[in-house]
Amino acid sequence: MLRTYEADLHIHSCLSPCGEWEMSPLRIIRRAREAGLGLIAVCDHNSCENAAALQRAGRREGIAVLAGLEVCTREEVHVLALFADLERALALQDWVYEGLAGENRPELFGWQVVADEHDEVQGENPRLLIGATRWGLAETVRRIHGLEGLCIAAHVDRQAHGILNQLGFIPPDPPFDGVEVSWRVPLSEARARFPEIGDLPCLTASDAHRLAEIGRARTQLRLASPALGELRLALRGEAGRGILPS
Ligand SMILES: [Zn+2]
Ligand SMILES: [Zn+2]
Repeated sequence: MLRTYEADLHIHSCLSPCGEWEMSPLRIIRRAREAGLGLIAVCDHNSCENAAALQRAGRREGIAVLAGLEVCTREEVHVLALFADLERALALQDWVYEGLAGENRPELFGWQVVADEHDEVQGENPRLLIGATRWGLAETVRRIHGLEGLCIAAHVDRQAHGILNQLGFIPPDPPFDGVEVSWRVPLSEARARFPEIGDLPCLTASDAHRLAEIGRARTQLRLASPALGELRLALRGEAGRGILPS
C-alpha cells in the first residue's frame, strides 16, 4: 500500500565541520520526528561515519534513515549520493577518502565529531572533509551508480557549490537521478526559475546544519516503504510512486 512520506534527504550531522555539535545522531532523529518526517538521509561532507549511528537511533525511534554522502567533486560541485545500505555508502566513502587530501584544522573549519546512537562521542575525523576531492563529476556519478546508489545534484540554485553556478549547465551524461533545490526556492517554482533542470526529477531538502533547520524544506513522496528502491521509483514516477506537487 502506498503512503505519503515527508522526506528530508539532505541533513548534516556533527561530523561535518560546519555542522554544530547539537547535530548528534539521537538529537537529529528526535528533531526529525518532532518535525513530522518519516524518511531522512544523512549526507555529511565527503563522509558517512555517522550514518550507522543515525540508522540505529532511527530504528529505535521509527524514522527511516538512508546512508548518504555529500561529495565535493574536483569541479567544486556538490552531489548527494544515497544508498540502500551502509555497506555501499562505506564503499563510496573509501573511494572518496582516496581522493581527498589534507588534514582538518578544527579551530579554523570546525570539529568533525563521530558519535554513536546514544550521542556518546567516539572520536574525531582528522581528514579535511570540507575540501574538494580529486575525482571529477562524471566519474563520481558513475561510481555512485556502480554502487547502485542515487546521485542527485545538490542545491542547484546556490552560488556556492551548486552545479549551475560551477558549470553553467547540468551535464546529461552520465545522467543524474535528480536535482535538489535548497529551502530558498519553493519546489513549485524550481523549474520555472531554473529551466536547466528540464525534465530531471526535482526535490527539495533542508541541508540542515542545525537542529532547528531540519525539515525547513522537505519533499512529499508516495512510497510503499521508506527505502531507496522506492525513492528510485518515485524519482522516475513509476509504479504509482512519485513526488507530490507542493
Ligand atoms: Zn552543499
Ligand atoms: Zn549540504
